[in-house]
Amino acid sequence: MSEEMWSDRSSPVHPVSAPDYLPLDQLRVMQLARLKAVVKRTYDKVAHFRQKCERQNVAPDSLQTLADLRLFPFTVKTDLRDTYPFGLFASEMSDITRLHASSGTTGKPIVVAYTRSDIGVWAEGVARALAAGGVRRGDVLHNAYGYGLFTGGLGLHYGAEKLGATVIPVSGGNTERQVMLLHDFGANAVSCTPSYFLHLIDAAGKMKIDLRKEPLRVGFFGAEPWTDAMRAHIEDAAGIHALDIYGLSEISGPGVAQMCLHKRGMHIWEDHFYPEIIDPDTLEVLPAGAEGELVITTLTKEAFPMIRYRTRDITSLLTEPCACGRTMRRIARIGRRSDDMFIIRGVNVFPSQIESGLLSVEGVLPHYRIILRKGESGLDELLVEVEIPAGEFTDRVRDIEQLRQRLAKAIENIINIRADVRLVEAHSLPRSEGKIKRLFDERQK
Ligand code: ADP
Ligand code: ZN
Repeated sequence: MSEEMWSDRSSPVHPVSAPDYLPLDQLRVMQLARLKAVVKRTYDKVAHFRQKCERQNVAPDSLQTLADLRLFPFTVKTDLRDTYPFGLFASEMSDITRLHASSGTTGKPIVVAYTRSDIGVWAEGVARALAAGGVRRGDVLHNAYGYGLFTGGLGLHYGAEKLGATVIPVSGGNTERQVMLLHDFGANAVSCTPSYFLHLIDAAGKMKIDLRKEPLRVGFFGAEPWTDAMRAHIEDAAGIHALDIYGLSEISGPGVAQMCLHKRGMHIWEDHFYPEIIDPDTLEVLPAGAEGELVITTLTKEAFPMIRYRTRDITSLLTEPCACGRTMRRIARIGRRSDDMFIIRGVNVFPSQIESGLLSVEGVLPHYRIILRKGESGLDELLVEVEIPAGEFTDRVRDIEQLRQRLAKAIENIINIRADVRLVEAHSLPRSEGKIKRLFDERQK
């Protein structure tokens, strides 16, 4: 599908996306004014932040330039846990119109709050994200992100409404019915996790519906790491533009950054979300282009302002101009989240590295899982299970063995560790309806 077909240069800029094109000097002036205001407000309203500033000997008037932000303390996940549930709120409860909570793998969730204005900012971010993927009024978005405390469903929903598109709030689950609705309602856009879209592709195949022949033309996939190889697979299997959408509950939700149709990284809406990249060990701010941990300061949020929030997501800031004309900087694909890393025989590995290895070899399906366990010798073992197309098991035993070897080699080339690859039948691995769990660490058992 040609990029030109959906290029937003061919139609007038939608009012919600106008700020994407702000000249940089104006953008920097706006950022500094907003930054001063949010730092002052958070200092005045949130005791936890004020005390951290005092310990570090900084006050709101220490901030004279954007670069001075580096003088201020970071906010980390434990700040959110320690003040659970409402300790970091900067608005009165009577001004808060919504709460959300992130999944939180252990114990208590992280609770985040929004005023009416915050919901508006969030919706605008999502509307701009959808517009960057060519969605317009008159388009129909099939929104299969989960509705509820998770920010995915309602985030995309409000954004689509703000843009003026038609939104179908299907939420997650009931996959065959979803395929039927996709087909019958003729949605042109879809949003869900990339792993759930794989599930939809599969289900469509079983129902003899060829997504490439449907009106669907673009997907907004995020909330979990995925690789460019997976993007290519989805684009090919469904005949759509598969775009990366990024966000996190602490900062608002989905729609903090969005891949445009030029597909090189994701524009971060930096009039609302100010990015820095730091070295996670030294905590120093890194120069443009360097890879490190993404730190975000919210410039306009009222109820839950975050100053220098450490996302634990590893990326870099791309500063070269983008062919789409948007002036806002881009973040590179988030291939790694420090929490997802596992260590095997002393080597740091990210699940996305295994995914890249697997999908570089032809003849496998993009469904896999990673199992870590203690071998008989007491050494850690890495087992990777991956599906192969139906029918492949019955014949060509030798080919199968060769495929297994090729996959093991492809993984070893990336992570320098030998993996035991097990080929399993199509549809035999568990599917996800939201964020997928691919890593099973059985070493403690
Ligand atoms: P939780 O922290 O419980 O997973 P969130 O739903 O707020 O809750 O998830 C935000 C996280 O999801 C991000 O910090 C990031 O690690 C991941 N994420 C979101 N979008 C993407 C994306 N497009 N690519 C990779 N990772 C993403
Ligand atoms: Zn662009």
